[in-house]
Formats: sequence, structure tokens, C-alpha cells
Amino acid sequence: MSDLFQPPDGYAPRSAWQRGCSACGACCSAPDIAALGKPLGVPCVHLGAGCLCRIYEGRPAVCRNYQPDWVCGEVAPLPTLQARIERFLDIYGLLEPEPSESPDHG
Ligand code: SF4
Ligand code: SF4
Repeated sequence: MSDLFQPPDGYAPRSAWQRGCSACGACCSAPDIAALGKPLGVPCVHLGAGCLCRIYEGRPAVCRNYQPDWVCGEVAPLPTLQARIERFLDIYGLLEPEPSESPDHG
């Protein structure tokens, strides 16, 4: 059985204690979630104080099926939700480039 907490090559091994959700809010904020009409990079409208879900009992299947994995160890220790969002998006290659990095129009 694969270990969801085993990071891919190039990432530091995660500590053994980080094996579950610590309610950091990143996975409720960074990805786009079609079932909720939630765009990329903004907190879900149902995310409440302490990064807890305000509709936990009625949350959609996509949320129920989400499992903590090695990414949690990369994002959860970061000090702010915004930092956690950006790290999550960066891991998945979804971080917008800096505004100064405008496309080369030739
Ligand atoms: S990213 Fe991981 S630790 Fe953070 S809320 Fe989601 S499952 Fe929990
Ligand atoms: S519905 Fe709840 S669990 Fe799902 S993304 Fe929103 S806050 Fe997170």
C-alpha cells in the first residue's frame, strides 16, 4: 500500500508526527473546487474561524474524500494562511508568476 505521506523525490522527508490534518486551511483555500464554485487561491466561503469547515456535516463529497498527505507537512507549518496557499499552489505548479515577470511579447 502506498504511503500518502511519502514525498516525491526532491522533497525533504516529512516528520513522522505529521500524519494527519492539523486544520491549516490550505486545501480548503488553494485548489479550485468545482463542486463549490470555488476559484483557485481563495479560501472557501465555508471556511470559518480557526480554518474549520462551517458546513462540516454537509460538506460535498470532494471534501469528504480528501485525504491528508505529504503536502500537509509542506504547508501546515507555515505561519499564515496566505503562505500556506502559496506553498500549496507552488507544489502543484499553479502559482501565478510575479507581476514583474510579464510575458515577453517579442
Ligand atoms: S492541507 Fe492538510 S493539514 Fe492543511 S487543512 Fe488540508 S488536509 Fe489538513
Ligand atoms: S466545504 Fe468545508 S471542507 Fe470543503 S473546502 Fe469548504 S471549508 Fe473546506
